[in-house]
Amino acid sequence: MYFRPRTLNETIETLSRHGGQILSGGTDFFPALGDRPVLGPVVDISGVSELRGIDINDKEIRIGGLTTWTEVLRAPLPRCFDALKAAAREVGSIQIQNRGTVAGNLCNASPAADGVPPLLALDAEVELASQSAVRRLPLSQFLVGNRKTLRRADEVLSAVIVTRGLDHARSAFLKLGSRRYLVISIVMVAAIVDLDGEGRVKQTRVAVGSCSAVAQRLVELERHLVGRMAERGFTDRISPEHLSALAPIGDVRATADYRRDAALTLVKRALEACVGAR
Ligand SMILES: Cc1cc2nc3c(=O)[nH]c(=O)nc-3n(C[C@H](O)[C@H](O)[C@H](O)COP(=O)(O)OP(=O)(O)OC[C@H]3O[C@@H](n4cnc5c(N)ncnc54)[C@H](O)[C@@H]3O)c2cc1C
Repeated sequence: MYFRPRTLNETIETLSRHGGQILSGGTDFFPALGDRPVLGPVVDISGVSELRGIDINDKEIRIGGLTTWTEVLRAPLPRCFDALKAAAREVGSIQIQNRGTVAGNLCNASPAADGVPPLLALDAEVELASQSAVRRLPLSQFLVGNRKTLRRADEVLSAVIVTRGLDHARSAFLKLGSRRYLVISIVMVAAIVDLDGEGRVKQTRVAVGSCSAVAQRLVELERHLVGRMAERGFTDRISPEHLSALAPIGDVRATADYRRDAALTLVKRALEACVGAR
């Protein structure tokens, strides 16, 4: 069975009645099938226009559940979203960015999903809608493992929400892959740094992807940096211990040791990029 609802209400009603897999841009959905046919009902939400686009109000920024990477790139977003925009530019190719959605990237829950570290650094929440309720969860809780989330089968991810507060903070995203283009990351890092009037770190958030089943915020490191002058060399004292929350694996793309070393270098570079851009 194939359903193509036109509204969010129709979507959640269809999911509640028939269940089935949600299809959005299809850029993860179809490759995951390989040679197999689709089994069970499919709920294609690509025509639900109310889920598309980005709304900005005084309190929060709401990225609709059908918003593509290209739409993220074109939106006039505050400076702290620069890392998310940089990640958007790295997702596959322009064709993939035109089809692929932020929500699809999160629901697919790959450890190498480019959207996750910048959204973790933004303290993003996801909004999940079903017939019985609409609930919000921090992204850090929503993602629970490799390809595992807390989304229930009858829920659609209707929006990604970022509470405003760090609009003017600098942010950066760095992705290391084995080539420059169309590449799955070996390591990626997103950082946000907010400075006070004297140039000291007021708040910082750092998230690393591809180095654990779920991308991780480096909370210890974030605490360690608060109060430091953001000047040349302020990352010198960052040590491998600050990255101990990571649990990289070795695979065809890189060894665990290489990932650990690369993560340390990228964390420093991302933080320096935030400060250097002052
Ligand atoms: C050639 C190629 C290169 C790629 N390169 C990258 C890359 O560099 N970095 C990267 O991170 N990804 C990459 N991807 C993966 C993919 O493009 C992204 O993850 C994209 O954001 C997925 O969005 P989608 O709308 O296409 O999701 P879909 O394929 O439609 O769906 C993905 C999963 O999420 C579920 N889903 C989708 N939307 C919702 C929703 N609103 N609510 C609930 N569940 C939902 C679906 O049921 C499915 O399980 C690449 C893919 C291809 C084919």
